[in-house]
Amino acid sequence: MTADLRLANRTAIVTGGGRGIGRTIALALAEAGAAVAVVARSGDEIGETVRLISQQGRAAAAVTADVSSWADVERAQTEIEERLGPIDILVNNAGISGPLMPLWETDPDDWWRTLEVNVRGPMLFARAVLPAMIQRERGTIINIGSYAGIRATTGFGAYATSKAALVRFTDSLAATTEKHGIEVFTLSPGLVHTSMADAIDAFKSIPESEWTPPERVAAMAVRLAAGDGARLNGRFIHVADDLDEMVREAERIERDGLYTLRLFNLRGPAE
Ligand code: NDP
Repeated sequence: MTADLRLANRTAIVTGGGRGIGRTIALALAEAGAAVAVVARSGDEIGETVRLISQQGRAAAAVTADVSSWADVERAQTEIEERLGPIDILVNNAGISGPLMPLWETDPDDWWRTLEVNVRGPMLFARAVLPAMIQRERGTIINIGSYAGIRATTGFGAYATSKAALVRFTDSLAATTEKHGIEVFTLSPGLVHTSMADAIDAFKSIPESEWTPPERVAAMAVRLAAGDGARLNGRFIHVADDLDEMVREAERIERDGLYTLRLFNLRGPAE
């Protein structure tokens, strides 16, 4: 098998694959040989991603769904398996920035909606695909996280809370599913020009050198989907991390509990 076809005979789902980072990941998984199902609410956008994948000669399916709805997710999972076969790779990428204002000025339902999309969505899709993955003893789930989830930020409260929850969701799920041959990662993309990021005023002054090309995020997703990060199961991996170095240091990462959320008190890591 050539390096370019590392995902031949695999089937992937990319949520939020209609534009932005999700579309780039969907195209890269397809380029690596996978059949790809693209899920979002906007039918025209996922249809366009599927058209681009079909041009690469790969199987693809566009399935409209709201990731926060269990009825939608169950229907999507059934339709995707019927059309493309059992799911090997799930990329939980769909997300929203949520309200970018102080909590006391925020509509509480808008705040909570951020958790519905960014946390409930990944949970529902994982819930939907895991039974078959466990039965087949293989599968990779990549949750698209953010640095906002691991440090306090001003004005991104709902978003940061949701992305922090995703980190703990990832490592807890990895611990539970490891014995079934499943790998689960948080992948943090850095700043990427997308409709979401470009709409945020606070980002407008950030120099171009600090932005990440979406293809770089997609390349890391392909590596994780292909098993290159197997020894780092459950970890938070940033796009700029050196994956090979991390794999070499996997024992230390495991022993010292690195690359996940930790609380440190005056005596060191709280146990
Ligand atoms: P975009 O807004 O460009 O794309 C978001 C995608 O998610 C769209 O396809 C959108 O489609 C879909 N989506 C949103 N809500 C739902 C929903 N309820 N159900 C189904 N699909 C949904 O955003 P990005 O590409 O920037 O973001 C992708 C991921 O990367 C997100 O998880 C984001 O938090 C994360 N991220 C992005 C960063 C950046 O700098 N861009 C930085 C760090 C993390 P539709 O609206 O049609 O449903």
